[in-house]
Amino acid sequence: MVSQKQVCVIGAGVSGLAAAKAFAARGHTVTIVEKSTNLGGVWDPSRTYPDVQTQSPKDLYRYTDKAMPDSYPEWPKGPQVHAYLKDYASGHGLDRLIRFNTAVAAMSRRADGKPGWTLELTTPDQTSREDFDFVAICTGQFNDPQDLRLPGEDAFKAQGGQILHSSHYGDASLAKGRRVVVLGGSKSATDIAVNAVNSGAREVTIVYREPVWRIPYFIGGLVNFKRILYIRAQEEMFASWGIGPMARLAHQIAKPFVWANWRGLESLLKAQLKLAKCKMVPETRIEDGVNCSVPIATPGFYPMVADGRIKAIRGTFDRYEGDQIVMSNGARAGCDIAVLAIGYRLGVPFLPEEYRSKLVEPDGQYRLYRLIANPDLPELGFVGFNSSFCTVLCADMAAHWLVRYADGQLSRQPSAQAMRDNIEMMLHFKRVERPAAGVYGGLCVAPYHFKHFDELLADIGTTQRRRNALKEKFTPPDAAAYAQFLASAPDYQAAPPVLAQTS
Ligand SMILES: Cc1cc2nc3c(=O)[nH]c(=O)nc-3n(C[C@H](O)[C@H](O)[C@H](O)COP(=O)(O)OP(=O)(O)OC[C@H]3O[C@@H](n4cnc5c(N)ncnc54)[C@H](O)[C@@H]3O)c2cc1C
Repeated sequence: MVSQKQVCVIGAGVSGLAAAKAFAARGHTVTIVEKSTNLGGVWDPSRTYPDVQTQSPKDLYRYTDKAMPDSYPEWPKGPQVHAYLKDYASGHGLDRLIRFNTAVAAMSRRADGKPGWTLELTTPDQTSREDFDFVAICTGQFNDPQDLRLPGEDAFKAQGGQILHSSHYGDASLAKGRRVVVLGGSKSATDIAVNAVNSGAREVTIVYREPVWRIPYFIGGLVNFKRILYIRAQEEMFASWGIGPMARLAHQIAKPFVWANWRGLESLLKAQLKLAKCKMVPETRIEDGVNCSVPIATPGFYPMVADGRIKAIRGTFDRYEGDQIVMSNGARAGCDIAVLAIGYRLGVPFLPEEYRSKLVEPDGQYRLYRLIANPDLPELGFVGFNSSFCTVLCADMAAHWLVRYADGQLSRQPSAQAMRDNIEMMLHFKRVERPAAGVYGGLCVAPYHFKHFDELLADIGTTQRRRNALKEKFTPPDAAAYAQFLASAPDYQAAPPVLAQTS
């Protein structure tokens, strides 16, 4: 029998819930520590901005064992996602495992010499240390807001100006009657700019580095983008990692057709979104930038730029002067509220430096096998570091993989050397063959969802696909089908645990 472990799951967002469920379902004793007072991570209502909704359609943004309610729209709103996660947690008894207001401040190898980690836990009242046999890090990529300090900031604030990170733009009434300047080109930036217009802002400006391709919810105004961009047939247009000479040749032969496919999509997007009128035609080829950073076009954004309700300035903030922001190109915008939609810092700050250097390369790329484990970080795994356009499903699949890995029960349990070799191969792929795959420290599986899931399922010991090959090629990832694939995996109970080996 696999010995039961004391497992700590750090974080009670989408990924922490998936990890806790997977480990608890295998009989391990799970403790979830969450630094906030609520579950949900980025969907915690105190961290979301008004009108936030998913980019992913609801049938892609779900766990394998629970669909979102039928009553939800195709792209659920923030409070709906939060309610879904709360329901998931209570349905599986995970809420009872969570210790809120408890942050992991540091971790070290266990002093008693046993495998595992000692975590330093801080609450508002005390700091304590606890030993665990295994730790699942589920802290996400959107936790630690980036900072931007600029000259003139103190005087700007002193005369009444406000500067907020996008994760703190929680109250739409803030914008009413005021001049709002948003810095950034992500979906959060365009969502907030549109929200500010709709909330009666006096003036709204968006400042962005360069125009990027944004995908409308319905391509051509008609087809849900998941039916075009989330399908295996589309994914196969991108040469992936580890392919042999025959597959490379096939990609060479298909190149003209693939090229034509992307030019067609670009033309469609230019026309549909009126990019030329908005002076926002991207200068890069759409296929070169397909990764986790591709934003969905906020409805209303381009029309508002086209008719001047949102003023768009290309550049970045240079400094504050009085009640104005001066841009890098010398342009100025009057401002009462500056919203910094500039993203988050990646990292695992509580990991000791000795281990952090084994996890993160000097260029920021993460060394994670299957984006889940590192052979030189024993008794440790990462869930949700395989982010994508369907992160809930990714986290769920990673959690199913991780508990088997931790128990030494993967059908293809890799040796430490095989993991290191694979990590090197993936680093080469992300640095040289497809630099777009290196965004966010390489912690992104888009556009290779299917390939990633195929690998995880094969490791787990089930390689099932749908019987209908045509349907398999032209339908988006189906979370319910993945539940069936997982259910058909060989169950495990025997064999002693084989935790990650160190060299
Ligand atoms: C506005 C917004 C919209 C998004 N929409 C989509 C979408 O449509 N589709 C999609 O695929 N993805 C989307 N994402 C990405 C999103 O981050 C993931 O889908 C997913 O919610 C990440 O969950 P997570 O649990 O991995 O991380 P998080 O949600 O960030 O949760 C991590 C948790 O860990 C806790 N934590 C961190 N450090 C510590 C510590 N030291 N001690 C204790 N607790 C700690 C945090 O408080 C947090 O609760 C969106 C992100 C944002 C910000």
